[in-house]
Amino acid sequence: MTGLIYAFLGYNTLMYSSKIFSDEVLSDSDCRNILDPNQFELMDLVYDAYKIRKKHFGNKVRVHILDNVQNGLCPEDCGYCGQAKTSDSDIVSYGIKEEEKILEGAQKAYESGAHRYCMVMSGRGPSDRNIERMSSTIKEIKDKFNIKTCLSVGLLKEGQASKLKAAGLDRLNHNLNTSQEFYPEICSSHTWEDRQNTLQSARQAGIELCSGFIVGMGEDNNDRIAMAKQCAALEPESIPINFLLPIKGNRINKPQQLTPDTCVRLLCLFRYMNPKSEIRMAAGREYHLRSLQAMSLYVANSLFAEGYLLSKGDTSSKTLQMIVDNGFEIESDIELPLVQHSESFAPLKKDIHVNH
Ligand code: SF4
Repeated sequence: MTGLIYAFLGYNTLMYSSKIFSDEVLSDSDCRNILDPNQFELMDLVYDAYKIRKKHFGNKVRVHILDNVQNGLCPEDCGYCGQAKTSDSDIVSYGIKEEEKILEGAQKAYESGAHRYCMVMSGRGPSDRNIERMSSTIKEIKDKFNIKTCLSVGLLKEGQASKLKAAGLDRLNHNLNTSQEFYPEICSSHTWEDRQNTLQSARQAGIELCSGFIVGMGEDNNDRIAMAKQCAALEPESIPINFLLPIKGNRINKPQQLTPDTCVRLLCLFRYMNPKSEIRMAAGREYHLRSLQAMSLYVANSLFAEGYLLSKGDTSSKTLQMIVDNGFEIESDIELPLVQHSESFAPLKKDIHVNH
């Protein structure tokens, strides 16, 4: 019945990919329609987004693996973060890992088929000493493994981005997290503009940008549309879309208005608004997208494996298998460890009653 109404009204999602291919910018009303389940069937939106994804990325998928190289003890008050000074979450805090440990992490990520090894440090921003340490580690990783690197290190001071670039860093992660307007609701110890300044200094130093969002923190659809537009203005090479996980002890820990349908619509919105950017299903994909993760591969071209900073996720083998099962190709130059099935199933030991 709904389909008949769409046909009667003449709605056609394919107009969005046509607009994108002719470099038209979507209006706010287009964006609202994409997020509204009463306007379009989800599958139509996904098909339309897939045309854009396929043009820019084919059927390839990039797998990223995270390593928390420094955890906790942060003086900032980001409400969604278990490492914030305001969080009571039960985490293990530690200073920056020894270089040898980080190199082991890089090797493991490479051998798991990861395209990129993402090192994450807690804190407002790095000291010059820690920039020196990470620069030396990045050089070692680049010498030893054929893997891309990304570093998430907080707010950068003048001159720090160019040091990281000289060391060979491929990409800097610094998420904008939410809309400029909603930012004061999630953090008071620094501003959205502070974050944007760090991204601009990385861009000026010639480092690729990775900057994404966390959805479900209480923002509304106007904020979500603003996020997609503010992101498009920045033109980051990579956009991780995180779905808020309910981490006990964090000030913001109740994901709002997130269903699998909503999450896929958001991925579609970001794909339409940022056609050439790598779009990643990031933290919370298992929890919020659930059985629609496979469908989301037709929109996003990247995901994380082996979990997130403070929470578990699907293993590499399970993630890689989902990609292959859906006919996508993993970007990796090694033989990949897919799921191993046992030869046969053992029958269930309890009685099974069948009603005919
Ligand atoms: S600055 Fe980073 S580590 Fe510190 S609270 Fe915010 S998100 Fe967490």
